[in-house]
Amino acid sequence: MLEVGEAWEQVAAHSVRLPAERVPLGAATGRIVAEDAVSAVDLPPFDRSAMDGYALRAADTEPPAALTVAGEVAAGEVAAHPLAPGTAVGITTGAAIPQGADAILRVEDARVDGDRVTPVGSVPLGLQVRYRGEDVARGDVLAPAGAPLTIQSITALASAGRGDVSVHRRPTVHVLATGAELLEVGAPPEPGRIHESNRLTLRLLAERAGAEVVLHPVVPDEPAATRAAVEAALAGDVLAVSGGVSVGPHDHVKPALEACGVQAVFWRVRLKPGKPLWFGRRGETLVFGLPGNPLSTVACFLLFVGPALRRLQGEADAAPPYVPVRLAVPARPADGRTTLLTARMVRAEDGVLEATPTEGQGSHLTGALAASDGFVVIPHTAGELPAGTLVGALLL
Ligand code: AMP
Ligand code: MG
Repeated sequence: MLEVGEAWEQVAAHSVRLPAERVPLGAATGRIVAEDAVSAVDLPPFDRSAMDGYALRAADTEPPAALTVAGEVAAGEVAAHPLAPGTAVGITTGAAIPQGADAILRVEDARVDGDRVTPVGSVPLGLQVRYRGEDVARGDVLAPAGAPLTIQSITALASAGRGDVSVHRRPTVHVLATGAELLEVGAPPEPGRIHESNRLTLRLLAERAGAEVVLHPVVPDEPAATRAAVEAALAGDVLAVSGGVSVGPHDHVKPALEACGVQAVFWRVRLKPGKPLWFGRRGETLVFGLPGNPLSTVACFLLFVGPALRRLQGEADAAPPYVPVRLAVPARPADGRTTLLTARMVRAEDGVLEATPTEGQGSHLTGALAASDGFVVIPHTAGELPAGTLVGALLL
């Protein structure tokens, strides 16, 4: 049986980033850049005024003297003529500085009399001029390959004349649930049957991890139906099958996957909940067989499926997102497996998250899941850990 870390290494080794596509900037937040995104222009694209005022020649203000106002250039316009010596041109913030002008007199520092303007003092060369290319040069890399696109970098790319960006494709995840006992979400209760939640949870988690999700109908515990459903769902970058991967007489998922040509990479991990996790691959499609208990499905998603989805999207070092937390009470691993305990996590006064496991612990306890903020991870190598121990947690 694999250790959790070993199982992740195996999943990671198969989680190769997907090819690139171009997407509009507005759809690119959080996506990983596939090819360096560079500026199409110099920024500023031309010498611009930083203020409302007058464009002039600095030399004409030493000493300050009255200048003739020869027109105006507003933002978006280009002056029709170069600036003649001894003249000034009215200018607004952001407007292109006329040829010949080399400084801006702020309107606050100008005395205006008819068509004459006199600076209150001499104006140094370059005052209030934003020079072409002083921020960004055409061809500068604004978002390098491998970086996640942020609102900051998207803002810079938009300013730099870009409309779209090359990013790694989002994975498509097909989700299948097996189990004759399963009722659809919201269906009236029936004797002996339970409400299905894993497809919904997997959809929400996978979408949050950046994937596109295709849900398939629930499959009864029957070999031919399971095989047909698996074949139909082996259509994306990832297949997540819930249930039917244990050793019961009605667990048909592993044989169905193998009959469909999915190569097993591993089955079973030293993990609670989540021990029966199965992982394999057919061609470019990664396949996760997730144990059906709802908390097992969530645990396996957080540890394996989610980070794999991030890798597919180009996040080269994506890994299970452990965050450090401090145990508020003692905790111990269960029966020799690395144990995920549902826990409330509250920030203590010193800023550290403090974890209190929920009273009930069990892979079927969705009520305890609802009362939690995620799982604390107690390694199977630990004995009883005292309160105050720093451990890893997986937050939801
Ligand atoms: P299995 O992995 O198929 O042996 O299922 C383990 C437990 O999880 C059983 O009690 C199932 O009823 C339950 N279960 C299986 N699939 C789902 C599902 N999609 N949603 C909620 N519970 C499930
Ligand atoms: Mg089942």
